[in-house]
Amino acid sequence: MRVDTNIVMFPNPLEQCLRRKRLLKTFLQHYNLPEHLPVFSRIIFTSHVTILSVSESYKEMVLERVWRREAVVSKIESLNRQHSQCLITVKEMYRFARIVANHHLPAWFSPLKSFGLEFGNLRSGMYCERCFGSTLHKEKWHAYWTCYHCGEKTRKNYVISLQDYPMLNKVTITNAEARTFLEVDDRYYV
Ligand SMILES: [Zn+2]
Repeated sequence: MRVDTNIVMFPNPLEQCLRRKRLLKTFLQHYNLPEHLPVFSRIIFTSHVTILSVSESYKEMVLERVWRREAVVSKIESLNRQHSQCLITVKEMYRFARIVANHHLPAWFSPLKSFGLEFGNLRSGMYCERCFGSTLHKEKWHAYWTCYHCGEKTRKNYVISLQDYPMLNKVTITNAEARTFLEVDDRYYV
């Protein structure tokens, strides 16, 4: 990607798009899925400030393959109308959906990396959902946690804080690690 004053140039998105189409075709072949299924590869610009600039010789191809976000629904409806013929059975469709779902890898966004931080740089402790302060405490015989800052009372805030842990560190956690992360001394609280 090259930034030139206010213009941002992306590496050829059409080529990337065609590559993904070829990869999907290879995937279908590999898993004995119906290869005759039509595959449409499209580029969708999600930013409303994006300016599409294209030379005359590529114009037709680009207009067909590059969509703006507000046109996605109508373009898909139009594709559905053009290709309304049944090409696979319901059984094949379920098999196709199951195999694709089983091979799906979610995009993993690392908030720490994007801010140039390490897990050890983070302040530990459970946070309050109302004021976002790490100021929750629990009296020995109380069933709830109380926020020192705003007085919010909550029973399950450790669950909310623990949900952040896989994004920040790793997908497994021991009881000791959970207590360090949440700043809870008593192992029977967590
Ligand atoms: Zn609070």
